[in-house]
Amino acid sequence: MKHTLPQLNYSYDALEPHIDTKTMEIHHTKHHQAYVDKLNAALEKYPDIADKPIEELLKNLNSLKVDDADRTAIRNHGGGHVNHSLFWKLLDPSNQKDEQLVTDINSTFGSTEEFKKQFSDIATKVFGSGWAWLARDESGKLHIHGMPNQDSPYLHGHTPIIGLDVWEHAYYLKYQNRRPEYIENFWKGLKLL
Ligand code: MN
Repeated sequence: MKHTLPQLNYSYDALEPHIDTKTMEIHHTKHHQAYVDKLNAALEKYPDIADKPIEELLKNLNSLKVDDADRTAIRNHGGGHVNHSLFWKLLDPSNQKDEQLVTDINSTFGSTEEFKKQFSDIATKVFGSGWAWLARDESGKLHIHGMPNQDSPYLHGHTPIIGLDVWEHAYYLKYQNRRPEYIENFWKGLKLL
């Protein structure tokens, strides 16, 4: 059973004007699809793990019995697949406010505004391509991390809660070099908080 591109529960123009239609379409059908295809290609030689949830592969990446080149491909393309799958769900305009998450954010960071400030700062400073993450550690505690490339918090045993893609492909068509403006508009599109 190969990994497949998840369908969006909303249309590509649903996040206008914060995230433009063309970016959504290319990001989903080209970039995310490429991660799925390359992940499947990397797993072709390993039918025993090809069916496992990608989260599980990333959590146990170093102990997988695979060639080093394939381990890197699973990290990059498996990460790309799982990261984008979460990203599309987060952006769903029909999402409701997550009261439990808001409570946890307030007790960890003081307020939602303070959390957004810290997260936005990390997202702005990710050098090159990567993501900003809010993730829970093994004990459930919330942490903000900037991570390079398509590295997933699962690599460190953390569970991603909010991820913001700051690769240029996520914003360049509309925002060009203005990453902070894209980040500001991400919050306007996010219904969870
Ligand atoms: Mn992306």
